[in-house]
Amino acid sequence: MSTVKATIITIGDELLIGQTIDTNSAWMAQRLNELGIDIERRVTVTDTKEGIKLALDEEIPRADIILMTGGLGPTADDITKPFLSEYFGGELVVDQQVLTHVKELFAIRNRPFLERNLKQAEVPNVCTVLFNKVGTAPGMLFESNGKFIVSMPGVPFEMMDIMTTGVLPRLKEKYISDAIVHQTIITSGEGESFIAEHIKDIEEQIPVHIKLAYLPSPGIVKLRLTGRGANQEQLEKEIAGIQSQIKERIDNIVVAEEDIPLQEILGRALKEKGATVCFAESCTGGYVSHLMTQVQGSSSYFNGAIVPYQSKLKHKVVGVDATALDEHSAISEEVAIELANKTRVLMDCDYCLSLTGQLSYGGEDDHIESGVVWMAVADKDRVETKRFKFHYDRWINKEQAAQMGMLMMWKFVNNKL
Ligand code: ATP
Ligand code: MG
Repeated sequence: MSTVKATIITIGDELLIGQTIDTNSAWMAQRLNELGIDIERRVTVTDTKEGIKLALDEEIPRADIILMTGGLGPTADDITKPFLSEYFGGELVVDQQVLTHVKELFAIRNRPFLERNLKQAEVPNVCTVLFNKVGTAPGMLFESNGKFIVSMPGVPFEMMDIMTTGVLPRLKEKYISDAIVHQTIITSGEGESFIAEHIKDIEEQIPVHIKLAYLPSPGIVKLRLTGRGANQEQLEKEIAGIQSQIKERIDNIVVAEEDIPLQEILGRALKEKGATVCFAESCTGGYVSHLMTQVQGSSSYFNGAIVPYQSKLKHKVVGVDATALDEHSAISEEVAIELANKTRVLMDCDYCLSLTGQLSYGGEDDHIESGVVWMAVADKDRVETKRFKFHYDRWINKEQAAQMGMLMMWKFVNNKL
């Protein structure tokens, strides 16, 4: 087991005041965790020399690896690069490869290359340049007193590219002697204690170098196997063996055997069947459609959606019976059914999911309890409905409704509902 320790430092006043959510830390921590590197601390500091110096002075003695992001841009407030150069006893010099690249980027973007932009091609002469092919500011690796210290731009996709191409391969080579294998089974329909009870004997047989974690989230429980060992191939075989034993035992609740989001799982199921889907999204306001279209190639199975948010549009556009709306209210099983059936025909689809609900009080349906959402899934022969009651704020209720809706559709498509 690894005892290598890492610290993540993110730099920026906008992070400190909560204007930008620090997603970089979470992403980097996940990658380090996958390698089996312990994350000791995550620190966010102000974009000043003092702030960065204090963080480095404190973290360098604790950690073997320090990953930093932010503060590398050409603007006056970005002082990280000159500071790091000074801190590690170097000076800034123009790097020819970076200069050529920065000039190319300016030409492509049709922007004049100014004197001040030359700064962007400067790097401390005491670092290894981690080339940034998707942006201007390069990553910098300082290997000082046996410590591995990396500074990267704050822009998330630039950081991710540098991590993937420059940082993670080096970390693997330098610190990771063990192979690590992860496998995930996604289940839905039973709680973690039920599953644990059901696979107790299999779990008891799992060797110590392989761990099984239960990761519950709304509607699903992920079972993640993580193994460490000297031999990658053997480890893969061992984990595959345990995975198939578990899968066999709980086959009726397995949704996927890979750690992918529900929109992708649903997309694959539709693709396999050569079927299409559409949505009538009232309370989720198009969010399910947003998630579906995050998946590349989704146009082959996702026809589109309608957001008949107000009651009058449910009637006028989708053709929901006005008396049904009056009698049962817009948040009702009857209306969910009509929305699903009529939208499916309107959009010429094999399947339709409808969602109509009350995410929080303050709208036209305040007589309905907050968090109540009716959903219906339909094909040409069948319709199934379900009433959900979510307990959180507007945003989390919307997120959960979307997840449960996609899951319900997946089950319907696979005749599991
Ligand atoms: P730039 O060259 O764009 O100035 P930079 O290295 O100076 O890059 P910042 O100025 O700190 O980086 O941030 C650039 C962009 O990346 C901003 O939009 C910022 O909100 C975003 N960003 C910075 N740090 C993080 C972070 N930790 N998590 C998520 N987004 C971040
Ligand atoms: Mg900046």
